[in-house]
Parts: sequence; structure tokens; C-alpha cells
Amino acid sequence: MSARVAVIRCDTYDTSAVADAVTRGLELIGGAGAFARPGERIVLKPNLLVSSSAAEAVTTHPAVFAAVARELASAGASLTWGDSPAIGTSLSVGKRAGIADVAAELGIKAADFSASRTVSYPDGRLMKQFTVAEAVLDADALISLPKLKTHALMRMTGAVKNQFGCVPGMLKGEFHARMPDVALFGQMLVDLNRLLRPRLFVMDAIVAMEGNGPRAGDPRNVGVLLFSDDPVAIDAVGCRIMSLDPALVDTLVYGERWGLGSATDIELTGDELPVFEDYRVNRNRLSTTGEGLGNPLAKRLLTPRPSITAERCTRCGTCVRACPVEPKAVDWPGGDRDVPPAYDYAACIRCYCCQEMCPERAIAVKTPLLGRLIRR
Ligand code: SF4
Ligand code: SF4
Repeated sequence: MSARVAVIRCDTYDTSAVADAVTRGLELIGGAGAFARPGERIVLKPNLLVSSSAAEAVTTHPAVFAAVARELASAGASLTWGDSPAIGTSLSVGKRAGIADVAAELGIKAADFSASRTVSYPDGRLMKQFTVAEAVLDADALISLPKLKTHALMRMTGAVKNQFGCVPGMLKGEFHARMPDVALFGQMLVDLNRLLRPRLFVMDAIVAMEGNGPRAGDPRNVGVLLFSDDPVAIDAVGCRIMSLDPALVDTLVYGERWGLGSATDIELTGDELPVFEDYRVNRNRLSTTGEGLGNPLAKRLLTPRPSITAERCTRCGTCVRACPVEPKAVDWPGGDRDVPPAYDYAACIRCYCCQEMCPERAIAVKTPLLGRLIRR
């Protein structure tokens, strides 16, 4: 049977317009009652990457969160919400994003994502265990509320990647160090989703992100909400919006191969899907981490790499702390903190944690000239 994704046009975050859109979208895939039963304890997982306002399009918009929460609560579920941001707490980031306030208005408590437990996962294709927030493990169901954005490592981030926030903050960097190859990282995310099996995905693409995502990109008016119980299908539809080939996104390649969902056999329902051929996303067929290029010189000449714009850098050191390799691949040259950190590209594994975490949007990912030429 085809995976079903509902597309609902909505070009505003006006509360009642979003509520109508969410009601319609859920009805098209079975109604709120198909995803929440009376008395069930359900965790809502918005994307709360880092502290930023709703207008920056980094985090799931509170109007979407509120509309989904109302629908599930009316079906009788007992709701909590949470995430494990890379920097800060769920509560502090949720406050800035506007989600903590709407949750409080709706009487939805914050789940504690700081306490975690390691669980074995014998069915994992790559991972045989995961350490996950207890709030997620102990709930009856997880419902995922991703934001459609570009991503330097994965090319796009949406439904599958959103569950990485169920892994405690400090552990995330270790995954990058252990899995420097983007395909392996994608496989890990697929296994994490196969373990957690979120029941429903509602993707906020009313205002999405393009360019230097997932934190420092530009908001892009897309004007849709997407609904599905299939994370691979909903992300593949996100790719269509961006005019990005899903075969370039490892979470979708392995997600389909390992039975998490379908990237190819999708039934669209609802409104017409907007497609943007000029969406600023990485369509270069070369790997984002350089594997398969044979030797270090080819990797250096062809692979995208992070680069600091000195004028924007405040010397805060977040990028140095975020770098998961030892010794650091981005560090103060000679220990001099009066200048921006400098890169050792030979040591850099291209995880792009530095670019993702820089609070000043001072780090961009650039493909060297040869890599850009080969794309053509
Ligand atoms: S995180 Fe950004 S602003 Fe801070 S030191 Fe690094 S490049 Fe500069
Ligand atoms: S320098 Fe940046 S991209 Fe390179 S390994 Fe460190 S955090 Fe990752």
C-alpha cells in the first residue's frame, strides 16, 4: 500500500487558520482519533534545535504545536512536550520559540528530556543500543512535529532527523565522531526511528528554511503543512518541495531500504504541492562528507567545508566546543583568542556541528571550485 501524505496549503501562522489546516490535514489521514486514544500518555516532539525566535524558522512554530496539541487532547490523550537541544534546555529553548508559553496555556507539562536510559535494540541494522530520553521511552506514543529545513550534513532535515532530539544533548556529538560518514549517520537515524516509531508526523513548512541551514539559513515562504504516519514519505515530499532528489538523502535511501517507510511509493492527498526549483539546497551529487573520493587530496579539493566569516565572528568559542573530534579540527590558532578560530581541514570530518551551533551565523559551508565544477 502506498504511503499517504496529506498536503494542506496554509500561508500564515494565524492561530485559527493553522487550526483549520491541522484539522483538515488530520482528517485526510484518519482523524486525530487514529493517533491518540483516551488516557494515552503522548509526548509531542517539536524541533527545538537551539534558542531562537519563531520568526527565524529554526524551530517548529508554536501555532502548529498548539493546533496539533488541541486535536490530540480533544481525542482524550494526556500530553507532554520536550526536546533535547544541543545548547540550552528544552524549557529555555521552548520559551524563546514560544512553545513553552502555548503549552502552559493548554495545560501541557514539559517532559524531562535530561534523564535518559540505555536500551538494547537487537533489531537494529547498524545500532544495537541507544540512549534515549526516559520521557520518550516511558510514553505510550511519540508524535513528531518537525520543521522543513536545509541541513549541511544531511542536505535536508525534517521528520526522520527530528528524533535525534530524543538523544540527550551531550551524546549527540559522539555520534558524529563515531560515524563520520554521512551514510552511516543516516543509517543510525533510521535505526533510531525504527526503535522509537513515532506515530504521527506533522511537518511545519508554512515558513521553511533554505540556504545555510539548519540554523543560519533564510526563512522561505512555502505555505504548507504536511501530515503522515510515514517519516520517509513525508521527508521525500519535503524533498519534492525543495526540488531535491530523495536519492541524495541517506535517511531516505536507508529508510526505504530498511522498511521505515517509502520514499518512492507515495499517495499525495489534499491540496496541490508547491515545488520550488530555485530552492537553495545542496543538490551536488558529491557526498557531503567526502567518502568515496579515494584519497585525502581529492577530499580536500572536492568536499564542501565550513568557513568562518571573520567580520561576523565574536570569538565566542561555541564552534570549538561543538567540534567532536580530538584534537579539535577548529581551534584558536596558537591559542590566540583575539582572532577567529581556524580550521584544520585535514582533521575535519565534515560533521558541520560548528556551522550548526555558531550563534552569529558566522560559519557557512562552501564547496571548493573543483567540486562546484564537477557538479555541472
Ligand atoms: S561559533 Fe561563530 S562566532 Fe563563535 S567563535 Fe565560532 S565562528 Fe566565531
Ligand atoms: S571543524 Fe566543524 S565540521 Fe569539522 S569536524 Fe569540527 S565541528 Fe565538524
